[in-house]
Amino acid sequence: MDQTRTQQPFQTGESFAREMDAADPLAMYRERFHIPTRADGSEVVYFAGNSLGLQPKSVRPIVEQELEDWGRLAVDGHFHGKTPWFSYHQIFRESGARLVGALPGEVVMMNSLTVNLHLMMVTFYRPTPERHKIVIENSAFPSDTYAVKSQLGSHGYDPEAGLIVVKPREGEHTLRTEDIEQLLDDRGSEIALVMLAGVNFLTGQAFDMQRITAAARKKGCAVGWDLAHAVGNVPLSLHDWDADFAVWCSYKYLNAGPGAVAGCFVHERHGKNPDLPRFAGWWGNDPETRFRMHLEPEFIPRAGADGWQISNPPILALAPVKASIDIFDEVGMPALRAKSENLTAYLEFLLGQQPGDFFQIITPREPAARGCQLSILVHDAPKKRFAALEEQGVICDFREPNVIRVAPVPLYNTFSDVHRFAVAIGAT
Ligand SMILES: *Cc1c(COP(=O)(O)O)cnc(C)c1O
Repeated sequence: MDQTRTQQPFQTGESFAREMDAADPLAMYRERFHIPTRADGSEVVYFAGNSLGLQPKSVRPIVEQELEDWGRLAVDGHFHGKTPWFSYHQIFRESGARLVGALPGEVVMMNSLTVNLHLMMVTFYRPTPERHKIVIENSAFPSDTYAVKSQLGSHGYDPEAGLIVVKPREGEHTLRTEDIEQLLDDRGSEIALVMLAGVNFLTGQAFDMQRITAAARKKGCAVGWDLAHAVGNVPLSLHDWDADFAVWCSYKYLNAGPGAVAGCFVHERHGKNPDLPRFAGWWGNDPETRFRMHLEPEFIPRAGADGWQISNPPILALAPVKASIDIFDEVGMPALRAKSENLTAYLEFLLGQQPGDFFQIITPREPAARGCQLSILVHDAPKKRFAALEEQGVICDFREPNVIRVAPVPLYNTFSDVHRFAVAIGAT
């Protein structure tokens, strides 16, 4: 699979971008998405797929199918719809697992990301006075910080003192794996949970999840990964890495729409354990007895990640997730990743050709330590330059005080998009 290493010797001209597009084996997938346009009808350069992925054209018919089944069948749709609602979540059993390197049964699509994070912490954050600390990374996504702090507080621990934030070294922007390992080595016995992002939202750094998981588990810490910026972006092997749990949202690289139903991974070794504490609801119960309602007051969790479900699934919201995951299943992460490494390296190359030094890239240079996103720290007039990009039809995003995040997404972005971006930033 060393297609991932076939990096081209890049050239600066626009014709080179067109040649790359012509030779791109995934080029036809762009056609499967709605690309936003400007007032004059021209397509924007959409580099904000790390925030909200574009709409697959297959979403509308799949949602309409559910509307039709509801209209035509009403309550009978639970068992006689085209995709029966009773077992709707099970359609992701194989494809959802493939996406994150899990076994069938280790993944369930449910709720939203932060809700799943809380549900996972109910089970896997089991603090004691000697071991109650939670490790997160510097500039973690705010929702994650709020979630872990409120978990500390709800167990009666001081949210500030209970949190260990791993920081970059002086003068650096990203974390070093060896520093995280050192921290775990030194303080592992105080740490109940290591909860890091697979890819940091701000810097675009992809952590060495395998090494960090191993180091944390060696010290007896539980390990959970927030894969919001990792899923559909970088290759994942959650089962083999032996993480305890992981959570992710589906509206960024997975393109399942605003507020889409999120994902959750529970390792098989826990999925088999009905005695684990959890917040229960009827959909996590054994389906054999689920509809016996008042006759069965005892909660019997079903095996696997499914046993952490609480409510019956929102079908209209799950349908786009199916449309989206089907595309990933068809393309496969290896092919996507191969294009992604090339596309991002090309962006890095063109940025390196820019005259002057008004910015620096803070995302790691090694392909293994990043996904598709590059984070550009702008030293000079960052807001003005960001506005100038927008005026030129480039959609990316700005994080206070001075970071522009740019995500060329391999499913629908082109080498020509990257070229247009480079020209546009040069003109800011
Ligand atoms: C996008 C993102 C979230 C969003 O949380 P929701 O519960 O989906 O609103 C949380 N954490 C991280 C790391 C994110 O990137």
